[in-house]
Amino acid sequence: MRGTILYGPDDVRFEERDTPTIIKPTDAIIRISATCVCGSDLWPYRGIQKIAQPIPMGHEYCGIVEEVGSAVKKVKPGQFVIGSFFASDNTCPHCHAGYQTSCQQREFVTTAQAPVLRVPLADGTLVATLDVPPDDLIPSLLTLSDVMGTGWFAADAANVKPGSTVAVVGDGAVGLLGVISAKQMGAERIIAMSRHASRQQLAREFGATDIVTERGDEGVARIKDLTKGVGADAVLECVGTQESMMQAVHSTRPGGSMGYVGVPHGVELDGEQLFFAHVHLHGGPAPVRRFLPDLIDLVWNRKINPGKVFDLTLPLDQVAEGYRAMDERRAIKALLRP
Ligand SMILES: [Zn+2]
Repeated sequence: MRGTILYGPDDVRFEERDTPTIIKPTDAIIRISATCVCGSDLWPYRGIQKIAQPIPMGHEYCGIVEEVGSAVKKVKPGQFVIGSFFASDNTCPHCHAGYQTSCQQREFVTTAQAPVLRVPLADGTLVATLDVPPDDLIPSLLTLSDVMGTGWFAADAANVKPGSTVAVVGDGAVGLLGVISAKQMGAERIIAMSRHASRQQLAREFGATDIVTERGDEGVARIKDLTKGVGADAVLECVGTQESMMQAVHSTRPGGSMGYVGVPHGVELDGEQLFFAHVHLHGGPAPVRRFLPDLIDLVWNRKINPGKVFDLTLPLDQVAEGYRAMDERRAIKALLRP
């Protein structure tokens, strides 16, 4: 089989790799229906996150189960399944608390930009749909593997409630799906921070009521202007830079909550600023496994259409173009079909 390998900055190749097989009795092998490039894949692609040797890529996936190990009881060959980017047993104390991405047995899935994938801890990790989905639902179901679940966690961690005023920092796919999530949770006002026309339009389609184009302190000032000087009840931080983090903290009203899901790079929080901000902070790698059953229902019943974030679809063997298009911000998110 051929699969995706990152050799170094700007160097993604699609080349021969071993076809995965069952290694542990708790594994499943799935044939990928669709996979995609994640915003977080761009950190090593841009050389910001260093890699010591060529690494296989991909952690968002859905597909048909081909084979399961001898200890797998729930997942069956022929089922269409979606799983999180972290495999989890779904039985340990952290999983029971709803934090499957901190599972005591967690394993990062790193080889999904390929036609066939080995998923560890299959019974805990994978959720099957009622039936094999129609083709037009596949992009939206794929988003549940990471990006939609991450946007949902940002809104959940920011404690979005019916009637909330919400601000979303970041107009990448996660931020845009944070808008859908806030809308679903009943937010009354959703302020999307974006300076790109096509992303602003999608944000509005997903439920944004206001757009703020300013960033940093000016962005904070605009949020204050729009909220009578108070700040937003809930702020979703979906970038991971120092500027976006502080923009989010200072856009949140005293007593409000900020959910942060952008993987931080070089972020340092000043204790004194945090102390006087009076803001609840919660975030981290999204436990998307917690949200999968409910989000599958929402997609299956066509209540949400998060697959709209894919504005580029490529055959899997053109994966390098997917990275380039996202790196150059020509595409919000690239869908890859084997
Ligand atoms: Zn666990």
